[in-house]
Amino acid sequence: MTGLHARHRAVLPDWLALYYDEPIELTHGEGRHVWDAEGRRYLDFFGGILTTMTAHALPEVTKAVAEQAGRIIHSSTLYLDRPMVELAERIAALSGIPDARVFFTTSGTEANDTALLLASAYRRSNQILAMRNSYHGRSFSTVGVTGNRAWSPTGLSPLQTLYVHGAVRGRGPFAGLTDERFTEAAVADLEDLLGHTHRVAALIAEPVQGVGGFTSPPDGLYAAFRRVLDRHGILWISDEVQTGWGRTGDHFWGWQAHAQAGPPDLLTFAKGIGNGMSVGGVVARAEIMNCLDANSISTFGGSPVTMAAGLANLGYLLDHDLQGNARRVGGLLIERIRAAAAGVDAVREVRGRGLMIGIELADPVTGAAAPEAASAVLEAAREGGLLIGKGGGHDTSALRVAPPLSLTVAEAEEGAALLEQALRSL
Ligand code: PLP
Repeated sequence: MTGLHARHRAVLPDWLALYYDEPIELTHGEGRHVWDAEGRRYLDFFGGILTTMTAHALPEVTKAVAEQAGRIIHSSTLYLDRPMVELAERIAALSGIPDARVFFTTSGTEANDTALLLASAYRRSNQILAMRNSYHGRSFSTVGVTGNRAWSPTGLSPLQTLYVHGAVRGRGPFAGLTDERFTEAAVADLEDLLGHTHRVAALIAEPVQGVGGFTSPPDGLYAAFRRVLDRHGILWISDEVQTGWGRTGDHFWGWQAHAQAGPPDLLTFAKGIGNGMSVGGVVARAEIMNCLDANSISTFGGSPVTMAAGLANLGYLLDHDLQGNARRVGGLLIERIRAAAAGVDAVREVRGRGLMIGIELADPVTGAAAPEAASAVLEAAREGGLLIGKGGGHDTSALRVAPPLSLTVAEAEEGAALLEQALRSL
């Protein structure tokens, strides 16, 4: 023990969500592996929190960061910096949003906050639709559109939020219906809800819920929602903080699973793009982005060092077709995890797309959520040298697997075997 785990309680908030009975102190990483302060090596199946998108200590990114830091670390958004404009150009082109403008922030929370501000200003309304079981950040406004009770500490909000059913396929009032019936029922419910509103600004939704346990609605649900939203002039904000950059394998953005809907009005991103550097942002059509009529800046958003990291990281991702890798290796990994979970009574469902795989645990007798089992598997996996994540509904009974997108087949096999050991220890 290095002693750090004993000191943190005296200075960090009690509500900080730390993993493990004795939280791990990570000291360095390489590729898909990280090391702790005692020299133990782990296969990283959570990539930070989906933040290490390509690989730990990727030479292309560390070199770009070091070179940029040697030139100028920060110039503030009062001036132009080349990496910011170049990254904005690349993201605007990739976003699918016509006449796109990009505003950089330093986190996903701040990106969603900005999107909510833009939508409210554009529509002159603070009514927001959000999905049940959602997570959008920890600021006052983003907590106010977070439907997952485990992450919504006060229930208070500066926004008037209405929660919509339909983001979770296997739970809630429409569980058990075919995809088509599920979508019809969710649309009917949305129409009913809108009958009780005055003027809604936007719907904010994660295409695949991240913190909520990697749960997806039927493909096309948001396209069906969009038809209703369009009739009311309501904007669609796609929170791509976890689903962006090809993680879901089949698509570069999560919204593309609902492609009939066309691109969202606003798209938010963060986590993986900086490979661990603090990069977040919002993309929106110019008329929406430019609807604010007072000045605004983000002191650290678009900072040259983080932008240089983003450019190098995105370049690597595209040059090495890591989306294709997420599809191929993710397809194999989910098969292996399904095989590993077969015969483990506590596993209720293995689901996911690409390198975003959720394993739902439940009490085999009562069917009740099993958060203790999820924690036990997390600890057992750690013992075996594998880091994974947790999540799910407010009861946190899902395990989450989201390795860097450069995961190799051999690492997928190794990780699935370690996960099997951990599951069987239940
Ligand atoms: N949106 C989603 C979908 C997230 O998963 C998260 C973080 O987990 C956020 C927003 C908030 O991002 P950040 O922690 O960078 O503020």
